[in-house]
Amino acid sequence: MPTELRIVSDDPVDRDGPYLVAPEELERLLPDEPSFRVDQLREWLYDKPVTTTEGMVNLPVALRERLDDNLWPFEVEQVQEADGGRTRKWLFRMPDGPAIEAVLMGYRTRTTLCISSQAGCALGCTFCATGQFGFERNLLAGEIVAQVQWAEASLRNQPMRNSPDHVTNIVYMGMGEPLANYRQVRESLRRLIEVKGMGARRITVSTVGVVPGMRRLADEPWQVGLAVSLHAAEDTLRSSLIPLNDRHPLEEVEEAAQYFFDTTGRRVSIEWTLMDGVNDTDEQADLLAPVARRLDAHINLIPMNPTPLTEDRPSSDDRVEAFRDRLLALGANATVRTIRGQSIDGACGQLRAATDGRTGLTSSR
Ligand code: SF4
Repeated sequence: MPTELRIVSDDPVDRDGPYLVAPEELERLLPDEPSFRVDQLREWLYDKPVTTTEGMVNLPVALRERLDDNLWPFEVEQVQEADGGRTRKWLFRMPDGPAIEAVLMGYRTRTTLCISSQAGCALGCTFCATGQFGFERNLLAGEIVAQVQWAEASLRNQPMRNSPDHVTNIVYMGMGEPLANYRQVRESLRRLIEVKGMGARRITVSTVGVVPGMRRLADEPWQVGLAVSLHAAEDTLRSSLIPLNDRHPLEEVEEAAQYFFDTTGRRVSIEWTLMDGVNDTDEQADLLAPVARRLDAHINLIPMNPTPLTEDRPSSDDRVEAFRDRLLALGANATVRTIRGQSIDGACGQLRAATDGRTGLTSSR
């Protein structure tokens, strides 16, 4: 669906490169090339991405060499695989220093890519590895889109067994709070939906409750999904886990989720990471169920991804089941999500924590 907004620059790191300029402005990088060459390059970038310019077979060698240096806005510092090759995780390093992560998960009918929207995060949720780094900077729209295109190019080179050969679903659940980087995240959505041609309904933006951003997203022309990381169903506990709750308490978050549902017709999903003795109690289930029922929301229960340095521990399997069953008995919809990538620091921020030698707590976005 066309949109009149065209956010292009807002460039906090002042860099150029094929993925960093807006697709409509690629000419700027190739002032001496005919327009059909620009179209060919745009096609390589957005329709059939390749990891190196060598693969851009219809471009002249000289042009490929010129593009070589800055084709990607990051370097791939590490790749890890788990779950029999059906989970692939990258650590991307930006030229100005920060590192971000993306995780690709293959399933029988879909491949879901989890991407980062910020380097670090200012919100400091206590259970999150990314939150422990503090905030480095917002990612540019092109840096967000390039994570998707890198994963797509990687899948073309090395498909996952019994999974689609391209990225079918995208979740903004990696490092950072997407709605705290609204302009660039919005522009990345525009490029993915209107230029790359991804279905908006296959993209989910996750938030810990940035209420103004939830309302803005509801008013956008695309029907992307919204996942609200609730993790607690009363304000005292929630504020102790997610400091932002002091500014936007539960009631406000629920109102914004309701506005999103009413405006877009899309139900939000509620994300709930189960931590032993913290938020896996009957009392929390009793408080959560009516919220989910009012919003007609599905609850994704996420067993915590354990690390040796995590203060909070994952709930036992029995407790996870009991929590789910109690929600179901109270008329809420809930499923337990399978954990992927435990052997590769699968939760957001963990690989970065391990690589940079920092203490990582489990992230649970
Ligand atoms: S959970 Fe999300 S919002 Fe909270 S610190 Fe981690 S990345 Fe930031």
